[in-house]
Amino acid sequence: RKTIGVMTSGGDSPGMNPFVRAVVRAGIYKGCKVFCIHEGYEGLVRGGEKYIKETQWHDVRGWLVEGGTNIGTARCKEFRERSGRLKACKNMIDMGIDALIVCGGDGSLTGADRFRSEWPSLIEELLQTEQISQQQFNTHQNLNICGAVGSIDNDMSSTDATIGAFSSLDRICRAIDYIDATANSHSRAFIVEVMGRHCGWLGLLAGLATSADYILIPEKPASSREWQDQMCDIVGKHRARGKRKTIVIVAEGAISNDLSPISCDQVKDVLVNRLGLDTRVTTLGHVQRGGTAVAFDRIYATLQGVEAVNAVLECDADTPSPMIAIKEDQITRVPLVDAVELTQQVAKSIESRNFKKAISLRDSE
Ligand code: ADP
Repeated sequence: RKTIGVMTSGGDSPGMNPFVRAVVRAGIYKGCKVFCIHEGYEGLVRGGEKYIKETQWHDVRGWLVEGGTNIGTARCKEFRERSGRLKACKNMIDMGIDALIVCGGDGSLTGADRFRSEWPSLIEELLQTEQISQQQFNTHQNLNICGAVGSIDNDMSSTDATIGAFSSLDRICRAIDYIDATANSHSRAFIVEVMGRHCGWLGLLAGLATSADYILIPEKPASSREWQDQMCDIVGKHRARGKRKTIVIVAEGAISNDLSPISCDQVKDVLVNRLGLDTRVTTLGHVQRGGTAVAFDRIYATLQGVEAVNAVLECDADTPSPMIAIKEDQITRVPLVDAVELTQQVAKSIESRNFKKAISLRDSE
């Protein structure tokens, strides 16, 4: 019988609530005690019943259809330091927690794995400084960790979909549908900025789903001249065929070959100056994170929550920390460290404009 702590950390995403609900209920169903850790690692470091609350079956009623995360999320500087992790360790032992499930992005999962690998030395220090008893030391030898990926960007390697990505995509498509109507009425062009710093998944799929005229994403850079000529050529042709609206999607991380970011205003100037189009910029911003999760995210977050509970119950001290992934519609476990490392390598390759490497890394998954 384990005592499980579950938290959401990093940027929020739709589907985090269904995930937490599933962990709480699957945990209770399997005979465990479940604590919700509020405000991410901040709550773990501060500790006490204000932040670490035992959660019952009925406490998560209705969470399947609620957006965001009801247990809060935060970024926590202190947890990046050993002293912060020592406090977190003590707080967990005080509450009797011996398994931790973290739903967050690659940063949060890196922190979780680091915490686990440091655990033996943390409990040793707590014993030496008489902050925990010998009995507590004996019963908390091992910390089981499991990660699940909550991110709207779909930017984690080794999984086909992150929790929240399809909800965000749906929100973007609806927003573009609204923009379409006004663009068509006024015969205008709209530049729509969507999220995605290192990963153009949202921009690319939103473009396909709304038949955008042109899409700019971090993974497909071109020289300023190339993308500007190509965009004007395509938009010009569409206009010549009588199309009254133009939609160009720009991922926030879009860059050109000459190492400079591509801003929406820059794209706007090109359409105004070269094609004479009445052009507006719409930055969707945090609307993309909002609202309830779509059915896909509700269902897959639930299945992942159940699998996360199975994982922490089955893992022993020698099992590498797992991350729950979706591969070809199957819920699976992959080594957390490998997935995070690959994700960071892809992000670094894109930042340093080594696109061939980024693509080959993604293909290697
Ligand atoms: P995300 O999880 O969305 O990638 P962050 O990178 O901001 O978001 O990470 C969320 C939190 O996870 C941080 O505020 C910090 O508390 C913790 N964290 C991130 N990276 C590390 C790390 N290398 N070591 C320890 N904790 C970390």
